Amino acid sequence: MSNSHKPAPTPPECHRGRSPELVSNSHNRLGLAKYAATVGIALSLIMVQATIEYRELDLPAGYRWKDHLVSAFSLPLQLICARIPDTASMAPRIIALHAGLLFDSKTKAFRQNVSIQVDTETGTIADVFERDASADKAIKPSDIDLRSKVVMPGFVDAHTHIFLHSYEERPAQEQMRDESIVERTVRATNHVRRALLSGYTTYRDLGSEGMGSFDANLRDTINRGLIPGPRLFVATHALTSTGSYEMRTENAANGVAGPTISDSCDGPTGVRRAVRRRVADGADVIKFYADYRRKIMRFPPVQTHPYIGGMPFPPRDANPQVVMFTQEEMDCIVDEARLAGLPVACHAGTARGAIMAAKAGVTSIEHGSEGGDELLKELRRHDTILVPTLAATEAIRKDQVEAAQRQAKRAFDMGVRLAAGGDTGTFNHGQGVRELELLIEAGIPVEEVLEACMVGGWEACGGDACGFRFGWLAKGSRADIVALDADPREDKQALRKVSFVMKDGKIWKHAGVPVGVIEPIMQESGQDDPTWQLI
Ligand SMILES: [Zn+2]
Repeated sequence: MSNSHKPAPTPPECHRGRSPELVSNSHNRLGLAKYAATVGIALSLIMVQATIEYRELDLPAGYRWKDHLVSAFSLPLQLICARIPDTASMAPRIIALHAGLLFDSKTKAFRQNVSIQVDTETGTIADVFERDASADKAIKPSDIDLRSKVVMPGFVDAHTHIFLHSYEERPAQEQMRDESIVERTVRATNHVRRALLSGYTTYRDLGSEGMGSFDANLRDTINRGLIPGPRLFVATHALTSTGSYEMRTENAANGVAGPTISDSCDGPTGVRRAVRRRVADGADVIKFYADYRRKIMRFPPVQTHPYIGGMPFPPRDANPQVVMFTQEEMDCIVDEARLAGLPVACHAGTARGAIMAAKAGVTSIEHGSEGGDELLKELRRHDTILVPTLAATEAIRKDQVEAAQRQAKRAFDMGVRLAAGGDTGTFNHGQGVRELELLIEAGIPVEEVLEACMVGGWEACGGDACGFRFGWLAKGSRADIVALDADPREDKQALRKVSFVMKDGKIWKHAGVPVGVIEPIMQESGQDDPTWQLI
C-alpha cells in the first residue's frame, strides 16, 4: 500500500484551481526554506557569541567553560525549537475525525460521540476514543467534522471481477471474446475508481475472466498510486479441470479458439503445479471451481451460439452443474495454497461440490445456493465462510433470488460465517452495497450484515495472514473509513449515500465530492510546474 499520501484539504479548497497535493507541496517547500533560514541565523548567532567569548580571555578563577557554552547555545537553540512546531503544522501527521454516530463492527454496536485519530504517514488508525460532547467547541477547523454523519469501516466486497461489467450491457461471453485487452483494462480502471468512491476500500477479486494475471498488475498500479481504487486481493486465473470452463465453439476443428479464461489442471500433481503458477503470477487468493455446467457441447444453448440456434427436444436438464475435481484434487489445491499462506475461494453451485470443498478446507464457498441444511451443517462444521452472492442472482436469475435469500438467512440462523460479495461485475461496480441490502432484506439484522461485510470480508481475504488489518476501527488497523448521510437502521438506501471515503489514511471523497482523483495524473515528473495550468 502506498502510505506516503498526505490527506487532501476539504473540497472547497480543492476547487480553487490548483490541486491539493500541489498546494501542499509548495507549502512544504516554503516551510523547509523558513526552517533552513532559521537554522542558518541560529548558527550565525552561535558563531558571533563564541567569537566574543574567545576574545574575553581575562577570566576569573573557577570559570567553567561548559556552563558558559550552554548559555551561549541556549538562545539560538530556543529559536530553532520555536520554529519546529510551525513547520510540522503545515502537514499534520495525525488528523482527527469526529463522528456523530460510529458503527463498531467488532461489537456490532452504534456508538455516539466517537473520534478517530489517523496517522497519515502509516495510513493506520492511531486512536479511537469517546469524545466529551460538551467539548465539541474545541474541535479545530483542520479536523474532519463528520458529526452529522454515520461513520464506519470501509466496505469489503468479498467477490468481485474487476474486468467484467454488467451482463445486461453485454453477456460475459461477448465481453471475454470481443473486448480488447486495452478496453477491458480501461473499463477496470473506471470500475475500481467507482468502487472506491462508493465506499469499497477492499475488493477480493475472484478471477480475471479472460485477462490472465492482469488483475495482479492492476492491483499494483493502485498500490503504486497511479490510479485510485480499493485494496485488491486477486486470484489471477481461476483453476478448473480440463474442458470444464473454456470458451467453446462448434467449429473448433479448424483451430478456432477464444481467449483462455481459466488455468486448466488435472490430477494431484497438476493442480499443485497450477497453484504454484498462480502464486508465481502474484495471486493473493486461490480460486477454483468445484463444479460447472461443463456438458455444454451436448446440447449447445442458443445464448452460446446465437447464430446457430438451440437444439429442439433437449433432455430435461441439458446442461446441469457437475463436479469437476476429485476429492483428492481439491485436497491438494487447498494444501498447496496453505504452503503459500493463501486463502482459497471455491465456486460451488452443487451441494456435492460444496461439501467436498468444505471437507478439503477451503476458506470460502462462493454461491452455495444448493444443498440446504445438509450443506450448511458442513460449512458450520468446517468453519467455512459462505459468500451467497445474492446480488448476482438478482442480476442474472431474478426468479431465484428469494430462494437464495432464504438460504442466506438460514445460514445465518445456523451460525454459518457469512461474508458479503456480490459477484460484482455481473452488475456494475459502484453498486456493491446491493449485496448488503439483499442480505438485510433477507431478514439478517443490519449490524450483522455490516459485520459480515467488514470483519467477514477481512477473514475471507485470509485474516492476519493477508498482512493487513481492516474491517474495524481500532488502533493499528488500516485507516479505511466511510461516512454515510443516513442511518442504515432507518433508511433502507443509506448504504448508497456515502459522502466520505478514506483509504489508508488518504481522503478520496469528502462532502459527497471526489478528492484527489485527478492528482495521480499530475504526479509525473515536471507536471507540478505551476506555469502549466492543466487542472
Ligand atoms: Zn464470480
